[in-house]
Amino acid sequence: MESRIGNVREKSMFDLFTGQNMEAHREFSKFEKCNRCKLRGWCRGCPAVAAGYTGNRYTPDPQCWMEVD
Ligand code: SF4
Repeated sequence: MESRIGNVREKSMFDLFTGQNMEAHREFSKFEKCNRCKLRGWCRGCPAVAAGYTGNRYTPDPQCWMEVD
């Protein structure tokens, strides 16, 4: 899957992480599970793993151990 954020061979990790392309994908209210979790402020799982696993970065991170109502 090609990243929508950018290419690390063309830009630094800092520029990619703080750039507008990344910001456009930080819609925290869309995180299906993390949005209801008490650890959301610190964690939010790994959207890249979720995207690789399901094709949708906002689905739950399959590595997450937390039970959320
Ligand atoms: S513990 Fe799980 S549900 Fe909670 S914020 Fe982290 S990844 Fe999301």
